[in-house]
Amino acid sequence: MSDYSMLINGEAVSADSAIDVINPATEQPIASVPAASPEQLDTAVAAARAALPAWSARSMDERRELILKMADRIEQNMGELAQLLSQEQGKPMEGFAGLGAMFELGGCLAWIRYTASLDLPVEVIQDNDEARIEVHRKPVGVVGSITPWNYPLLITCWHIIPGLLAGCTVVAKPSEYTPLTVLKAMHLVADILPPGVINIVTGGGEIGAAISSHPDIDKIVFTGSTRTGKRIMESAADNLKRLTLELGGNDAAIVLPDTNVAEAAGKIFATAMINNGQTCAALKRLYVHEDIYDEMCEALAGIAASVTTGPAGEGPDFGPIQNKMQYDRVCELAEAARADGATFLTGGEPMPGPGYFFPVTIVKDIPEHSRLVQEEPFGPILPVVSFSDVEDALARANAVSVGLGGSVWSSDVAAAQALASRLECGTAWVNNHAMIQPDAPFGGVKQSGVGVEFGRYGLVEYTNIQTMQIAKG
Ligand code: NDP
Repeated sequence: MSDYSMLINGEAVSADSAIDVINPATEQPIASVPAASPEQLDTAVAAARAALPAWSARSMDERRELILKMADRIEQNMGELAQLLSQEQGKPMEGFAGLGAMFELGGCLAWIRYTASLDLPVEVIQDNDEARIEVHRKPVGVVGSITPWNYPLLITCWHIIPGLLAGCTVVAKPSEYTPLTVLKAMHLVADILPPGVINIVTGGGEIGAAISSHPDIDKIVFTGSTRTGKRIMESAADNLKRLTLELGGNDAAIVLPDTNVAEAAGKIFATAMINNGQTCAALKRLYVHEDIYDEMCEALAGIAASVTTGPAGEGPDFGPIQNKMQYDRVCELAEAARADGATFLTGGEPMPGPGYFFPVTIVKDIPEHSRLVQEEPFGPILPVVSFSDVEDALARANAVSVGLGGSVWSSDVAAAQALASRLECGTAWVNNHAMIQPDAPFGGVKQSGVGVEFGRYGLVEYTNIQTMQIAKG
């Protein structure tokens, strides 16, 4: 079992106590990481603060060049990083539709390289005899990043790369469940950047809480649960930190009666089960018109019956659920659906251990009030609900407190788009779901978050505006 170090001010740093990292396929520890002390967090924040003036004074092109070198270094070590990711997170190397650990590494490269191509040009609002007024974008300062366990390295890249490009320095905390790939990758790129520009501290939720209340951090970017997002918002209030919060969703899809079931079912399945359902923007509630309900349920069940779930080494389609807490939650929601009289077309029971394995589960004839419909399961289980009236389906889709994504499926694209525009969510898809890309803004409405990530809209969240007014005459 190997021990990993934190990265503070360009140095590898250990701590007095350690946290074991568990392989979710075996339930055995595979490595340990330091449990940072509050003083070590202070040292990391001080290093980021000290590195800020010189880093933000560099030109955008200089920062861009170093960021692109980071991508090259990650690419050179892609296979090894993907293996480690697969071990700690549980996702297979390739997996269903090629959406496994190698896909996450490929996503890191795509996001880093696209983000590095962006610019923050000065905008001229007015230039006449009276005055010239310019809008400048200044780095927001020291950024605290707190990331979850579903896409550990990809989400870390989403958080830190736009910050670095904008001229910010970073203190990042990966989830205690999946810190290894982030530590490994950031140590690999450490020599590319000046010391203190990126610092990685490891620990549990208490270190996340200490980051969100730290007086010398200027912005928090967080991906995780709505519950923790609210706590972060509270503790960030003291020094009015800027916030980007990407929280949970319970994405609905509405399938209209003119949908070609044979064509749509594969995409619906893939976007519901992506990363074993542990994806914030996965399709989580499927509303299907009664005319094609049985046909759709059968098609989905047919796909579910043909896929495999098992340890990554066996080359399955899906791996284990990442951690015991999440596994217990999926088991609990399946039980609740059973108690509500739902029909299980596939799966429904946890698989024999060791490991947090739960088979791909398709549930039909489930009442709207069932917890499996109302709450985000974040696992490989999909409730399929029948509707007869489109307005009623839309009302049910919108009747939750969250709004990350949503979709409408139909062979009439214009009708589908008109309905999709009425979904209360940050991203609405037509005939697709869960598709995100580095240049399209992504974020939630209602309790799914604050702000957006990706592309220029995401980049400006790492800046403050400075308006420059130059009087003339
Ligand atoms: P959390 O929101 O608790 O964890 C996400 C990150 O926040 C982790 O790094 C965690 O640290 C850290 N954290 C925990 N408590 C605090 C705190 N008080 N202040 C600051 N940071 C904190 O998610 P869970 O792992 O508990 O998952 C629960 C649910 O969240 C899931 O069922 C799912 O619905 C949702 N979720 C959504 C994700 C998304 O992509 N939007 C990703 C993961 C989960 P540590 O892990 O070390 O405790």
